[in-house]
Amino acid sequence: MTLPAGTPTQLYIGGTWRDGSQGTFDVTNPSTGEVIAAVARAGTDDVDAAIDAAAAAQPDWATRAPRERGEVLRKSFELMIERADELAFLMSLEMGKSLTDARGEVTYAAEFFRWYSEEAVRVGGEVRMSPSGANRILTFKKPFGVALLLTPWNFPAAMATRKLGPALAAGCAVVLKPAEDTPLTALVLAQILSDAGAPDGLVNVITTERPGDVVEHALADDRVRKLSFTGSTGVGSLLLEQAAGRIVDSSMELGGNDPFLVLDDADLDAAVEGAMLAKMRNGGQACTAANRFLVAESVAEDFAKKLADKMGSLTVGAGTDESTQLGPMINAKQRDGIADKVDRSVSAGARVVIGGSVQSGDGFFYPATVLTDVPRDSAVATEEVFGPVAPIITVKDDDDALAVANATEMGLTGYVYTRDLARGLRVCEKLEVGMVGLNRGLVSDPAAPFGGVKQSGLGREGGFEGIEEYLETTYVATNW
Ligand code: NAD
Repeated sequence: MTLPAGTPTQLYIGGTWRDGSQGTFDVTNPSTGEVIAAVARAGTDDVDAAIDAAAAAQPDWATRAPRERGEVLRKSFELMIERADELAFLMSLEMGKSLTDARGEVTYAAEFFRWYSEEAVRVGGEVRMSPSGANRILTFKKPFGVALLLTPWNFPAAMATRKLGPALAAGCAVVLKPAEDTPLTALVLAQILSDAGAPDGLVNVITTERPGDVVEHALADDRVRKLSFTGSTGVGSLLLEQAAGRIVDSSMELGGNDPFLVLDDADLDAAVEGAMLAKMRNGGQACTAANRFLVAESVAEDFAKKLADKMGSLTVGAGTDESTQLGPMINAKQRDGIADKVDRSVSAGARVVIGGSVQSGDGFFYPATVLTDVPRDSAVATEEVFGPVAPIITVKDDDDALAVANATEMGLTGYVYTRDLARGLRVCEKLEVGMVGLNRGLVSDPAAPFGGVKQSGLGREGGFEGIEEYLETTYVATNW
């Protein structure tokens, strides 16, 4: 499978495409293990050039009429939809997700441009009387300045637009560094933004497979005033340490260990439908993926059987095959990490219902796997698996389910299935997470605040909240 003609592979800096000072690195199709592109490898000099360009574009962009900023985003939304098939194919090729998942992602990703084209014109301030009555309190919102955006490989388009949309709407110029496994989609997004009228230098994309040096160098630059990161909690923590040096404002969307609760009165067929979405979207490689199924004892056997039937019937294949429902994992390391967690959990007493071992052949495939009798302290229950593995843990009652659900330092998404809405809402309120799907297996929505609590993150993306991450407040004390 070859790269579509015209797919950019160079750095995008100051409105021009250019080679990286460090040569190139290979991007692989995870469905076959074959190299599909040699992409520019940026050095610290390229980082300097990207920040120079962004810093030059920043003041003008910040003072453009909000409507004008919105129009560039609106046009970008339209161009993304026009190029949806091409983008979906490219994502399937570089990331391995099924075309169905990829098409869904293009729509979801484009919506961030549309949503923030609408939010660009709604940035407000306020006027209040001070409690003493001595003066008025006026507040203004202003963009932070140059923003450094770092994205993961699992949603190559959506994780980028979820940052680009609000950053550009707020008036920030950006330097985007996509993940090394999936840089191509981000480069096409740069093309789209440019075609939509983004001025030169406003959006810069640098690619590298050695992110450490490049990112540390960027964070040390005085002109970078904002960091927005999506990725693992470990890297997020390291970046917060680096950002602390210059007190760079930071938004963090990090890892999860998401619980999926099936209460004893749940509609089991609906719960299984929801579980398929929450577990199998993107082959389980989603931060919102259900990581642990906490199922009431009385329904656990039925639930496990129904889920195993559905998961076991998925068609496995290359992401770019139209019939594929479950593609490969992103790379060999990720696949081997999943296998290791499953193996350790099976040694600790978990029982394999389906799947459970790596398939031979090309590409980085791991089979749909359902485990029952899963010990509460086993690897699949305590670590983010990031693959098509469904560990089922039986629980006595709602309190027991909540105790297991909350016994983690992660707190991104939770799912609750019950026929009793009041009971469901009581459980939702007690879950220590940033988002809950109540009788729904999908929570992501560009119009909703996405983010986690505890070690799953800082701040929110999407919704009304998302643009605030790129704005700071100035207050004026005055009277008239
Ligand atoms: P990762 O942390 O390895 O990489 C994320 C980004 O950080 C990539 O761009 C990578 O190049 C960069 N990076 C890696 N090491 C770095 C370093 N030392 N210094 C600077 N940058 C570095 O994560 P990943 O494997 O790409 O993504 C999977 C993780 O992301 C999972 O934990 C998942 O839960 C999380 N995730 C979270 C969300 C969310 O919204 N909360 C969304 C998607 C993924």
